[in-house]
Amino acid sequence: MYQTTHGPHLPQERRLVTEIPGPKSQELIKRRSEAVSAALGMSMPVIVERAGGGVIIDIDGNSIIDMGAGIAVVNVGNSADRVVANVKAQVEAFTHTCFMVVPYLGYIEVCEALNELTPGKFKKKSALFNSGAEALENAVKIARRFTKRQAIVVFEHGYHGRTNLTMAMTAKNMPYKDGFGPFAPEIYRMPMAYPYRWPGGAEACEREALDEVLHKIEKEIGGENLAGIVIEPIQGEGGFVVPPKGFLPGLSDYCKKVGALFIADEVQTGFARTGQMFACEDEGIEPDLITTAKGIAGGLPLAAVTGRADVMDSIHGGGLGGTYGGSPIACAAALGAIETIKEEKLVERSAKIGQMMRSALESMQAKYSIIGDVRGRGSMQAIELVKAGTKEPNTEALGKIVKYCQSRGVLILTAGTYSNVIRLLPPLVMPEHLLKEALTILDEAVASAV
Ligand SMILES: *Cc1c(COP(=O)(O)O)cnc(C)c1O
Repeated sequence: MYQTTHGPHLPQERRLVTEIPGPKSQELIKRRSEAVSAALGMSMPVIVERAGGGVIIDIDGNSIIDMGAGIAVVNVGNSADRVVANVKAQVEAFTHTCFMVVPYLGYIEVCEALNELTPGKFKKKSALFNSGAEALENAVKIARRFTKRQAIVVFEHGYHGRTNLTMAMTAKNMPYKDGFGPFAPEIYRMPMAYPYRWPGGAEACEREALDEVLHKIEKEIGGENLAGIVIEPIQGEGGFVVPPKGFLPGLSDYCKKVGALFIADEVQTGFARTGQMFACEDEGIEPDLITTAKGIAGGLPLAAVTGRADVMDSIHGGGLGGTYGGSPIACAAALGAIETIKEEKLVERSAKIGQMMRSALESMQAKYSIIGDVRGRGSMQAIELVKAGTKEPNTEALGKIVKYCQSRGVLILTAGTYSNVIRLLPPLVMPEHLLKEALTILDEAVASAV
């Protein structure tokens, strides 16, 4: 059945042949700590050898169910066929000219695809970069240059990257910002519509959050000074916080009213993750600018800013760019990933996987009092862990659950301002039997942590 052993053709099974981590991984993790800065985190202490479909194979031969997709990057799976084929052909043709020195077709085609796929029924243009943070930096540059204003609004629990400007935009101090200041000025943080933790309760959040944010912008910044509002339509690192319906359209309408730009950071939510191609589609929002990265290129580093053509063209020639931005290899990968999403109907698949995860998580919530909230959309679903009968974050349970899953060969990721959220982000090509198995093990893990 499996003719080759590259990516998508690996046996789709959970198989443990050693303890986790096995002896070979243990040895290399030691080498890692000798050679690599201690500043780099590690979710799971194994060394990968191959990965594809819904599994990661470590160097000891353990086959681990991948519920993280490299943080929502390999939505199309690791080493997806079309990505591999395109990258191989591109590497053999040429590896780099710098798009600003000698342009190439792949970059143009990725921009065309983004202009077509992103929400917004107006003429759009794009520019390509290397990472999500770099896309956010550029979106802010564009918004300030276009509006000739400086103030940028961001939100509590938001995450936008680790560069100096994006650290200022990111909410959480530890580990992202602590000791790394001073941070960039003219970044204003507003309360987030976080239904589970809204002081007046989830019901009131719908009415109150937008009023409060707009009031604060008016009084503390002044609409006439606002260059743009930057928000993740569903917060990623912040713990999959889904704002109530009406919040995002309200912000977008306000931006129109005061002549500011509404900027959707779809770095984590984009490319079929939420059961739609982009999360903004859910409420028919048409952002002025959209930032994308993670899921765009099947694992190769690529990012983009896409938006209104008049805005994108308002920047002086040479004002945007970078040596590697939109590398031909990453562009070839992106075209393969986008084709895979279309051909394999991964938007629909994302919705289906999402339903399976959602119903499993809700039945866990009914059984286990430490699950305070279940939330997300499509195949980004999370549980927030609390001490039974309270909303107090339960980080001990989180640690136990992660360890339990790892020891059984299931990789899960954490998130949240209070470090008490488990987020599920499987590759969208995850076979159903593997997903079910992972959810069963997660259920046992939660039971063991109650
Ligand atoms: C990951 C992420 C970023 C930063 O992307 P990098 O590629 O790590 O720089 C920005 N915004 C969101 C919403 C993200 O999830």
